[in-house]
Amino acid sequence: MIIPKNLYLTEEELNIVREIVREFGCDIKAIPGETMTVYAIMGDERNELMVNRLEGLPFVAKINMIQSPYKLMDIRSEFSKHKIKIGNKILGKDLVIMAGHCTIDPKNPSLFLETAHAVKEAGADVLRGGVWKPRTSPHSYQGNGQAIEILMRAKEETKMPVITEVMDEDHIEIVLDVQVDLIQIGARNALNYSLLKKIGQNTEYRNIPILLKRGMHMGSIDEFISAAEYIVLHGNPNVILCPRGTLPSVQGYRNYPDECITPLLKQKTWAPIVVDPSHAVGKSIYVPHASLAAISYGADGLIIETHIKAQLGIGDDPKQSIHPDTLKKIIQDAKEIYEIAKKYKEEYITINEMVKS
Ligand code: PEP
Ligand code: MN
Repeated sequence: MIIPKNLYLTEEELNIVREIVREFGCDIKAIPGETMTVYAIMGDERNELMVNRLEGLPFVAKINMIQSPYKLMDIRSEFSKHKIKIGNKILGKDLVIMAGHCTIDPKNPSLFLETAHAVKEAGADVLRGGVWKPRTSPHSYQGNGQAIEILMRAKEETKMPVITEVMDEDHIEIVLDVQVDLIQIGARNALNYSLLKKIGQNTEYRNIPILLKRGMHMGSIDEFISAAEYIVLHGNPNVILCPRGTLPSVQGYRNYPDECITPLLKQKTWAPIVVDPSHAVGKSIYVPHASLAAISYGADGLIIETHIKAQLGIGDDPKQSIHPDTLKKIIQDAKEIYEIAKKYKEEYITINEMVKS
């Protein structure tokens, strides 16, 4: 929609505008209002160059987009019925809980194996274990590729699907080679467009879900969804969005908890939402309430850092991991809240159906 600087475009201005939009296969339609006339762009208005050229005209105040900037992640896209299956659960239909260490300690494999069995016992569906770690400080522990063997051993012992984070193309190759079940793109790489493209290309036709964390410095929700659009466009529609808190933080928490964006995301995109309460609040004592809040807001699942002996852990585990006994309680309560919250989620589906028709 073109908003003119004055109350309407003159015939001459309109001709200039028409000439530009026609170059991009669109046309223009005047919509006279009580006080001013605005101009609808007929056709696909999302061509960035066309918008930039229109916005550069001295008699145009701004362009308001009616269509969403993402074509594939949009709730009205061809993927709106796309479902992601994890084990025997379907995201969006069944609550999915991912739990395990922030970081697998390669020097202490038995700790991770113990946690793996305990989170399974607690009712988790997916085992998480960090192998390579994106750390703010280069002096902090950076992870160790050897830990992948421990992760895969835990998978073999527990028969749980496993998730780990990749930070570059070599990691992608390794996790595909050993057959990790889900891949995480962390908050720090959420805007690494070449990595997002690569992950889409390298997992095309493989049916591997990609859990994309929200970047801690990300701006709008559209920026988050557009990052996921890269993965889908380049080959893999199995994208899960993961709010994990943003910066600046609420004083006392590690980040600014953002589990409340789920309803907004659900109105814009079909992608399932799995919230990470651990990094949002950053301290184990706050994780239970943050987890249940996320489910109340309509999340389809949670990814929670959990450790059998957090005080012996590395990375974020000592401060942020909950015990599997706490996880068990959270899962029980989350299941109840999930069923309650689901009733209200149908509101979005109805609204979205209306938008579609
Ligand atoms: C993690 O999951 O341990 C992690 C580093 O997450 P984030 O990218 O959200 O900081
Ligand atoms: Mn962590």
